[in-house]
Amino acid sequence: MEKTCSRCILGDTFPNINFDKDGVCNHCHRYDKRCSKFSVNPENQKKLRSLVERVKSRGRGLEYDCIQGVSGGRDSTYTLYLLKQWGLNPLAVHVDNRMDSSIAVDNMKNTCRKLDVDLHNHTVEWEEFKDLQRSFLFASVPSVDIPSDHAFVTVLYDIAEEKNIEYVFSGASFRTEGLGSIEWSLHDDERFILDIQSRHGTMRLDNYPLRTIADVFRWYRKGIREIRPLYWMDYRHRDVDPLLERELGWKYYGGHHFESVFTRWAFAFLLPRKFGIDKRITDYATLVLSKQMTREEAFSKMRESIYSAEQEERDRKFIADTLELTEEEMDSVLHAAPKRNFDYDHHSRFHRTLQYLISPWRY
Ligand SMILES: [Zn+2]
Repeated sequence: MEKTCSRCILGDTFPNINFDKDGVCNHCHRYDKRCSKFSVNPENQKKLRSLVERVKSRGRGLEYDCIQGVSGGRDSTYTLYLLKQWGLNPLAVHVDNRMDSSIAVDNMKNTCRKLDVDLHNHTVEWEEFKDLQRSFLFASVPSVDIPSDHAFVTVLYDIAEEKNIEYVFSGASFRTEGLGSIEWSLHDDERFILDIQSRHGTMRLDNYPLRTIADVFRWYRKGIREIRPLYWMDYRHRDVDPLLERELGWKYYGGHHFESVFTRWAFAFLLPRKFGIDKRITDYATLVLSKQMTREEAFSKMRESIYSAEQEERDRKFIADTLELTEEEMDSVLHAAPKRNFDYDHHSRFHRTLQYLISPWRY
């Protein structure tokens, strides 16, 4: 029988999990460490306020004092709302990969209009992006979200560098969002991307925004830093949702990462069915730890279906049309033997750690 952590809901099938003598897993311990580092107390609130003042003073005279990536999702929308409340002047950046749901697009437009924030919509070079996204599907790896994810981060930091913006705000929140595993999604690894493209793609990536450790280090040396304000706050979905609906006309879209048709289909259908990966588990485990859900609720929510067969069919058709996948190709994506991310070329663990340590998003 599967062993389950005595505090959260992760089981021993979760990659690289281990348990202490009380049956508490390493993810729970990591959560506790973050909680004590970022505890919501007057001293840390003061730190956050002085950080905001620093962003303001460093950005004086610039067109924007900070930058933030937006998706139309809850976390990025709320962070943008906070930045305006604090009197900052952010540039919102979105990377358009032709897969946004209509709710997400409305959310972004409404939010930026109501908050009077400039929205920069970066459109990917479509033929290359399409080819790369197809390659990731043909590669039969769980990391299918990487083509968008990698481009999003690179574009954000490229624009920050170009506009001399030192601060990149992120809606990441360790109290509501689980970390996942690199067995599920291998981030920050251009060698992995290039190997998949060379084996399954039909063209070179001349315009796709790849980043290497040299780019990451250059951003760091220039003083660009990521700030995650939600780390310092008691961030709760049930308090934030009504506020966003009321103030910004924001709408919920049914699930984490459901703001994109592609990730909705990939995370709710392809990954569970083909790889046995249900990414909800790390989010629910985290919500248990931050006391926004009981363990029993989390177990029962894992059994809940949030994606109907009709919706899946519609999304699959949309994705096949957009990526120009034939029926045979889509069939092979669904039925090819699953591979691990690490079956493809990738950087060493040492390289990954070093890159993280010299990155603007070191936390
Ligand atoms: Zn645990």
